[in-house]
Amino acid sequence: MAKILFLNFPAHGHVNPTLAIASELATYDVVVTYALPESFREAVELAGATLAPLPVHEIGMPPALSDHELAALPFELARRAPHMVPPIVELIGQIKPDLLVYNALYLWGRLAAACADLPAVAFRPYHAPRAPRSVEAPFASPELEPLAIAAAQALQMTCRAYGQPVITLQELVSIVEPLTLMFTVREFQHGADAFDERFLFTGPCLPAGRPGKNFFSVEALNLTKRVYISLGTIRNDDVEFYRLCIDAFQNLDWQPVMSIGHRVDPEALGPPPSRFHIAPHVPQLNVLAGADVFITHGGFNSTMEALYYGVPLVVMPVTREQRLTARRVRDLGLGVMIERAGLTAEDLRQVARFAANDDAIKRQVRAMQQIVRASGGAELAARALLKLMEK
Ligand code: UDP
Repeated sequence: MAKILFLNFPAHGHVNPTLAIASELATYDVVVTYALPESFREAVELAGATLAPLPVHEIGMPPALSDHELAALPFELARRAPHMVPPIVELIGQIKPDLLVYNALYLWGRLAAACADLPAVAFRPYHAPRAPRSVEAPFASPELEPLAIAAAQALQMTCRAYGQPVITLQELVSIVEPLTLMFTVREFQHGADAFDERFLFTGPCLPAGRPGKNFFSVEALNLTKRVYISLGTIRNDDVEFYRLCIDAFQNLDWQPVMSIGHRVDPEALGPPPSRFHIAPHVPQLNVLAGADVFITHGGFNSTMEALYYGVPLVVMPVTREQRLTARRVRDLGLGVMIERAGLTAEDLRQVARFAANDDAIKRQVRAMQQIVRASGGAELAARALLKLMEK
């Protein structure tokens, strides 16, 4: 039986898009293992895969990376390589996978593949700004210099320990595997021409058979517009924004569903106005299946899911990656981009009305939905991995 080891950060936005691929692989009798902390066991096992917790849990992905932290991430990961790569190589020795599949940001995956002499496939569960990655200017900065020196030493130690040629961080991040899975479509990808045939655009990899069931009440379906509001699972504690949303929609004949995450106390928002559904977490795919407009932070998964369900977007980005996505949404006419600073309830109401009603946006969204639905998703990704293992 073929075996695949998935290596990834313990973050739902990064792990979720791979789970449907794992389920698909299970139908081909491939044994899939995830090296993740215990908290992921249920999700991993539900996907038909096995969890192998690493003995080191210092996995280095803080829950809310600022742009500065993101720039420092490759250096931080390299610095911790002597600590992180050996347990991964040891795990590889135990389960003997035929292939490693790693998040392209998770540099320990590439290093472990080199040290264990295994073929590897990368995936990018985020909106990648460019095909070859870089840690050189403008990413590097004088403040990163001490970290860069430590990172270079750590890479040297790690490579030498496994008898591998020493690799620089710039070389490491710019490696392009024979196959990189991209969970979007070429038509949505910023600068798509720079991505050659080694990049497979699978579109969003959503769980098979889900959803169908509409989250909104039948009455709401007949009478009003349905607006879904979510800032994702990481930087979602903007209480003022949620209050603004309540203000914007409470006197409108719409049905709002608002996911506020686990860090905001619902009490802080007061008793929910009628027609509002406010919860820490909602079944997002079911909600999107019935929504007329989605007010989102522009998370990569959320955006692709909205396009899969043909929902116009109002994107209010926080990070640089989300800004890239927001601009793409705006430029492709799939919705509207807004700024958090100075936003009022009236602005939000107007922009949501516009995005939900504008015929040109609806047309563009429908056209993109068709492309996204035809993109192949988890099934295409699984077949590509199987093909690579047959070689
Ligand atoms: N999500 C969900 N229910 C919620 C909020 C989010 O199921 O109430 C899911 C959503 O469908 C998406 C993921 O969480 O798959 C969020 O990922 P995204 O990349 O959009 O944002 P992040 O949380 O990484 O900022």
